[in-house]
Amino acid sequence: MTTLNHPSGSAGCISQYDPQALPVSAAQAIVLQWVTRLAASERVPLREALARVLAEDVISPIDVPAHDNAAMDGYAFDGAALAGASGNLSLTVCGKAFAGHAYPGEVAAGACVRIMTGAPMPTGCDTVVPQELVSAQGDVITFEANAVKRGANARRKGEDLARGGVALAAGRVLRASDIGLLASLGLVEANVKQRLRVAYFSTGDELRSPGEPLEAGCIYDSNRYVLGAMLQRLNVEAIDLGVVRDDPAALAAMLKLAAETADVVLTSGGVSVGEADFTRTQLQTLGDVSFWGLAMRPGRPLAFGRIWSGGRPGTGRAALLFGLPGNPVATMVSFYQIVRPALMAMAGAQAQPVPLVPALSDQPIKKREGRTEFQRGLARRDASGQWRVAPTGSQSSGALSTMSEANCFIVLAHEAGDLDAGDAVDIMLFDGLV
Ligand code: AMP
Ligand code: MG
Repeated sequence: MTTLNHPSGSAGCISQYDPQALPVSAAQAIVLQWVTRLAASERVPLREALARVLAEDVISPIDVPAHDNAAMDGYAFDGAALAGASGNLSLTVCGKAFAGHAYPGEVAAGACVRIMTGAPMPTGCDTVVPQELVSAQGDVITFEANAVKRGANARRKGEDLARGGVALAAGRVLRASDIGLLASLGLVEANVKQRLRVAYFSTGDELRSPGEPLEAGCIYDSNRYVLGAMLQRLNVEAIDLGVVRDDPAALAAMLKLAAETADVVLTSGGVSVGEADFTRTQLQTLGDVSFWGLAMRPGRPLAFGRIWSGGRPGTGRAALLFGLPGNPVATMVSFYQIVRPALMAMAGAQAQPVPLVPALSDQPIKKREGRTEFQRGLARRDASGQWRVAPTGSQSSGALSTMSEANCFIVLAHEAGDLDAGDAVDIMLFDGLV
């Protein structure tokens, strides 16, 4: 039996798994058990609702469409006339219907109404013959009866959404079409979850911020910018707390401030073997934090748990903590694999897992069994429609340039070994349409 850890326990005691070789799926499962959903919600205007999480089901207050209407420009008539008709059918035009302007009268047998797309179907009509199929002479139109089926080219009242039905379910991360759908119901605002507050900072004496001179032995802090950008994409409230030097007191002070300010705290650096002892003491004083070695590349070291703003467990405000590795690509992969699903769950989002697309590798790939690898790849579809992929070059966990060049991760499964050219792999594409 798999006994995963629970919030009441410690993030370190994971029976069955070696915390120094924790499979990605196990780490994801443990993290999700620690997540508490954000309760607070707020009403926002539709224009500000994109990418927010719906806090409750939206029940349709009306039928959409509100009335039967024409799906094409043409002539509306009672489709009963088609029954038994063979060869040509002729009808007399008795009036017009435009979108927003219904034909007011009844339509007698043998008659039809000139109708435009979106116009309400006149009483007694259920079928539209498109204008392209008709020849008109004066008030009389003629068309081949078997070219139209009864009910064709008419949209039914409520066929898109029925009044009283669930139009969108709670947990929906609102997309452009959803905003349009809410507008089509006449709603002016949406009840969405409050934004998750995520504070983040970088650690390291060697870090300089862009705009500052770069002294010998120093590097620019890229992680804070990557983290800020990834958080922006998730539409959370991102709080940039800057850079903290490798100084225990400064680190403890910043962690307390972060827990006071945010629901989740992300740090980068200081969790690898060489540095872990220093951070470990601070984190473990402030809360319940474990240091894992994930069976993942890049992104092996990770600190995870809960810290308290009061300086020790149970005092002040609690925040979930992710101590991410310092190497820039490791930071990104850890964010996407471990942090992102947790943030989505905390925000109350019913998120689907990111889809994997089957592809063939253009070249041999070295892969060690017993860890999941996320290589940076450039994927394309060949002339036959098959996805093909090649790594973008250096897979060093520090090389952001090959991450920038890539358009996907090549996901190499935990149990997989070396691959030959032409072998099947899964890819996770970076860009989506909506
Ligand atoms: P650490 O996890 O602190 O041992 O850092 C691992 C590597 O990542 C080192 O080469 C660091 O210089 C580098 N690194 C740490 N933090 C950052 C950062 N914020 N931006 C860019 N590189 C970093
Ligand atoms: Mg460091």
